[in-house]
Formats: sequence, structure tokens, C-alpha cells
Amino acid sequence: MATIPLDDRDGFIWMDGKMVPWRDAKVHFVTHALHYASGVFEGIRAYGGNIFKLREHNQRLLDGSKVMDMKVPYTLEEINKACEEVIKVNKIGDGYLRPLIWRGSEALGVTAQANKIHVAIAAWEWPSYFSPELLSKGIAIKTSRWRRPSPDNAPVHAKACGLYMICTLSKHEAENAGYNDALMLDYRGRVAELTGANFFMIKNGELHTPTPDCFLDGITRRTVMDLARKHGIKVIERAIMPEELKGGDEFFVTGTAAEVTPVGKIDDMVFKVGPITNMLREEYGKLVRQAPLKQTA
Ligand code: PMP
Repeated sequence: MATIPLDDRDGFIWMDGKMVPWRDAKVHFVTHALHYASGVFEGIRAYGGNIFKLREHNQRLLDGSKVMDMKVPYTLEEINKACEEVIKVNKIGDGYLRPLIWRGSEALGVTAQANKIHVAIAAWEWPSYFSPELLSKGIAIKTSRWRRPSPDNAPVHAKACGLYMICTLSKHEAENAGYNDALMLDYRGRVAELTGANFFMIKNGELHTPTPDCFLDGITRRTVMDLARKHGIKVIERAIMPEELKGGDEFFVTGTAAEVTPVGKIDDMVFKVGPITNMLREEYGKLVRQAPLKQTA
């Protein structure tokens, strides 16, 4: 699939309060975040020009900044408004927003007390994370050798840049072995999540998902759990061991970018895309396109 290179396109990026032409939105080499991963970010989707769960995403962004000891010079309302402006000025219909908060280039060392905190938001058209063909047969995922760290080893509930180092390594390893993504276990060897999405198993008509005690409790995850409950499906959050997966009936993953994506293969095990997955995928698709007022309730 031909894609426009993200670093060379028309449009505007909101940077520290100003709309900057896309190609001029640059940072200096000595930017602290570039060397020490001192940043937090969000991934948000817009459908038909309406941003889904905007407030929840930017609240998580600000909560993550706090965990990272970064004092953000903008309020939640100001960041929300900037997101709306970015969508409007770039004329985005179905697209993706990427806000980032990071430490600047005033000093370069482990300590960053004097470094300015910056905020920027980019957005681009992005219809689907996986191709329609993959979505109908389900993605193939491979267990990673990297594990999600324990809560006393990393700020596990923040969407912190540094946490994605092992995600990229895991995803590359899976892709190089012919899979679409990696399934990550946690530090105890329990099933955790994918590199950018949460994990679900359906067994005997019930929905099982790992308790998010050392990884992101995704906004899509919570939305899909609510949808399942509304449809009379029992939702069980618990520790899931990798040995249990062979006994599952259906599997899917959730994320802002991935939405509801069926899983057709886990390591050497092949599964069918089932009716509960398809129903939840359809319901999620309807929900995100509802009137914005109903979304933020
Ligand atoms: N886990 C990780 C590591 C992620 O990057 C994401 C995407 N933000 C998710 C889970 C899903 O979170 P959400 O549904 O809030 O997008």
C-alpha cells in the first residue's frame, strides 16, 4: 500500500500554541526527549471529523505527564481545543491525532529540571491499522521474548515514550517471523497485551481479559467491555496464563488505532474469527460514529 511519508507532507502541526507548517515542525538535536525518552503521548481517532473520547485521551496524557514529573503549561481544555483545531485546519475526516509532551533542549543530562516542557499535536488521515483482508481472517501474533515490566520498574500506566522501546523490538521480531504483531507477557509470565493494543479471549460465550495491573488499561478496552456487558456478555478480568490460550474460542485485540481487530493465529495455534468478535467489532464501529455528545458521557 502506497503511503505518503509522514515527514514530508502538507498541513499544520500545533506546536506550543501555534499552527506550524508541517515541514517546519522540527526539534533540536539536543532535545532531552530524543536522548532520554522523556515524553508522553496519545493516539486518538477522529471519525467523520469528530474526535472520539477526546477528553479521556487528553486526561490520560496529563496524568502521564504528572507521573513523568513534567509540568504542562496548558490545561486539559486548551489541549482539547488545540486537537479540534488541528482536525479542522488539516480537514481530517477519518484520521488519527498524535499529541506529544516532551522535555526540550535547554540542557542535556539525566537531570532535566531546567528543560522546557513542550506540547505538539499532529493529525493525518488514517482509515485502518490493518488491511480489510487481514481484518476478516484475523491477525497472526507471536509471543515476544520481551516482557512488560512490573509497576516498580517503570511508569506502566502512562503512555510514556520509553515503554515503547521493547514494543518496537517485539513487533519487529514478530514481523520478521511472518506475523503481524507480538503478544507480550508480563514480568510474571502472564498474558499482558500486544505492542499497541489490549488482548481479549472468548471462552464459552464469556469475555476474558488480563487485569491491567502492569500495562495500559486502554480506553478502547473499557469501551468494548461496556459494549459486551450491554449485550449480556459476562466480562471477566483476571490473570490469564499463556497455556490457557489453546482452549479459547475467539480472540481479538482493542486499541484506538487497531479498533477491534480479530486474531486468527497465536504462535502455532490457528483460530476462527467468531460471532462475538464480529458483533463487538460492528458495535464499536457504530459507537465511534455516533453524535459526539453521546460519546463523551
Ligand atoms: N496498550 C498499548 C501498549 C498501547 O500503545 C495502546 C494504544 N494506546 C493500547 C494498549 C490501547 O489503548 P487505547 O485503547 O486507549 O488506545
